[in-house]
Amino acid sequence: MSETAFHSGFITIIGRPNVGKSTLLNALVREKVAIVSPKPQTTRSNMQGIVTREHYQMIFVDTPGLHAARTRLGAYMVRVAQSALEEVEAVVFLVDAASGLRPQDMEILQKLLAGSAPLVVCINKIDAASQARVAEMIQALAAYDGIADIVPISARTRDGVDALEVLLAEKLPEGPQYFPGDMLTDQPERVIAAELIREKALYRLRDEIPHGIGVEMTQIKTRENGMIDMHVTIYCERASHKGILIGKNGAMLKEIGSAARRDIELLMGAPVNLQLWVKVQPDWRNKPAMLRELGYE
Ligand code: GDP
Ligand code: MG
Repeated sequence: MSETAFHSGFITIIGRPNVGKSTLLNALVREKVAIVSPKPQTTRSNMQGIVTREHYQMIFVDTPGLHAARTRLGAYMVRVAQSALEEVEAVVFLVDAASGLRPQDMEILQKLLAGSAPLVVCINKIDAASQARVAEMIQALAAYDGIADIVPISARTRDGVDALEVLLAEKLPEGPQYFPGDMLTDQPERVIAAELIREKALYRLRDEIPHGIGVEMTQIKTRENGMIDMHVTIYCERASHKGILIGKNGAMLKEIGSAARRDIELLMGAPVNLQLWVKVQPDWRNKPAMLRELGYE
């Protein structure tokens, strides 16, 4: 990088579900812009996290995990993840040290090696793996010529994340500052708010229920005193799921609502009055109109 010129570019973060892509995005941006959960397929759309420093701006694109899709929603997720590989300055391919390299990782790696952008492989979750495991993974990956760098990190503890940023900055070409310096994401606050509600629901639900949850912000209004009223519908796929989501005497919905409200108030910097409704919409993940309604198109 030359001393004076400004550098910028888009960098995609990709990998199979649950390896920590969204956690890494948040670690890079140093704010929680993307929701994170232990459930696979938490992230459903591409979203950008923006890092602006004196001499460069990087726009990281967080993607849904690449997986074998079984619904229209799943197919959409894989399609948007793949679209994020085009015309970027670098690709960060995340693998998980806690689980080791999986056949699915190797399949994705083969595809990425055929692409043109510099490929940085990050071995994430080193806080949860032995050094021997990490060394073994580095050795296995070092056999591939097309990998530009192999970087062990912990997105959770931020170990190695600053070093990763420096390494990626060196790959940026000269370019403009695309976004204002204080902008951290391309997502509007109302979308992040809906995502935070989905995140709280994901943490508390099990089996197939999390995959069938959709959150729609139906109304958002600021009162004169600054209080924000939000009306939100949570969709699920069966009456039995609705019962679980609402819980005994509404306890589950109340818990999801108050956890989400705390995060949303931090995000918005104002008190929030959150009203949640639950609706059953069978098979919505295969219905184009519903997918559009919820912003998956
Ligand atoms: P994504 O599906 O790839 O976006 O993964 P998420 O960012 O949603 O993370 C999936 C799970 O892995 C969550 O429970 C995270 O807290 C966890 N996780 C992410 N990064 C790390 C890490 O560096 N160390 C550990 N121990 N867990 C992590
Ligand atoms: Mg994610």
